[in-house]
Amino acid sequence: MITFNRPPCGQNAMIYLKEAIDNHKICGDGAFTKKCSSWLEECTGSSKVLLTTSCTHATEMSALLTDIKPGDEVIMPSYTFVSTADAFVLRGAKVIFVDVRPDTMNIDENLIENAITKKTRAIVPVHYAGVSCEMDTIMNIADRYKLAVIEDAAQGIMSTYKGKALGTIGDYGCLSFHETKNFSMGEGGALLIRDLKNVERAEIIREKGTNRSKFFRGQIDKYTWVDAGSSYLPSELNAAYLWAQLEEADKINQFRLECWNTYYNMLEHLEKKGKIERPVIPDWCKHNGHMFYIKVRDIEERTLLIRYLKENGVNAVFHYIPLHKAPAGRTFGEFRGEDRFTTKESERLLRLPMYYGLEQKEIEKVCTTLEKFWE
Ligand SMILES: *Cc1c(COP(=O)(O)O)cnc(C)c1O
Repeated sequence: MITFNRPPCGQNAMIYLKEAIDNHKICGDGAFTKKCSSWLEECTGSSKVLLTTSCTHATEMSALLTDIKPGDEVIMPSYTFVSTADAFVLRGAKVIFVDVRPDTMNIDENLIENAITKKTRAIVPVHYAGVSCEMDTIMNIADRYKLAVIEDAAQGIMSTYKGKALGTIGDYGCLSFHETKNFSMGEGGALLIRDLKNVERAEIIREKGTNRSKFFRGQIDKYTWVDAGSSYLPSELNAAYLWAQLEEADKINQFRLECWNTYYNMLEHLEKKGKIERPVIPDWCKHNGHMFYIKVRDIEERTLLIRYLKENGVNAVFHYIPLHKAPAGRTFGEFRGEDRFTTKESERLLRLPMYYGLEQKEIEKVCTTLEKFWE
């Protein structure tokens, strides 16, 4: 069976894990956490990166940092993972869903302005499949209406928009290192902070509301409880595992892009025959091979195809059920405007196996199995 995903593992993972254990340093913010956050700052050009326990938690921190309050409205696509909404729902906000563009499955930047009311506080673009949203338009709207922008860049590490790393354009960016992402620490993530003035409060929120980070830097004599916060720092064991991949990041990224390109090239003629559609990468976006998906005719054809692939040793999976159709989405959210593409396109989308270590001959097998399905 060709599995859909296999978590990435760097060559030196065991060595670094042992190092953390032998150094008797396994709680957060040790040497490996520092290596990872410095690397992420260098790679993205972000002013400040804080490693977190998940992307969900990085988003929660962003919601706290932007002072989201009960009754506030936060605009996002419905075609996303639950975490994007949860982080704001936990603060009492109402999530306002806006339709996606069918080409990239990202929020349609031209529909955002119509969804803004006096209660709107933030826009949360989700960079689906590591392909950027139209950030110039989104930042322009945010400037004009004084809204915060929190990028859900869970899938976007090493991707860029007009040369800028995803997660560094809005006020905050949230990365994920879950086992399904390009780089993983099992469970984990990172918060990217654009403006240095927001760093101190972010550090306090991450460290249970204390000024412990300042204490460790020797800026104060003892640390104390100064604000509300939680515990958003990951263990050194997780960071050690992640570091082993970050030091080989270019190799891993290149590998995924090659897999992606093989799929793209091999499936060209199925698209020409009108059987499928392949992903669209706008000119100004550099992606990271996070995901290869195809779109088929409709949900019925997709169901048949998933079954056929499984019978032939290929595990392919669909993706998000739009949040506005979920029970919690109906309670905490509202779709504003018309659902022209969110539901329809999500029902046709199928993700093919993609992971670091997937072999070219396995990709060829996936593609020939797809061809046989339409024969
Ligand atoms: C994976 C993912 C998340 C959640 O990441 P965690 O690190 O598991 O919290 C959020 N949003 C999107 C778009 C994702 O793909």
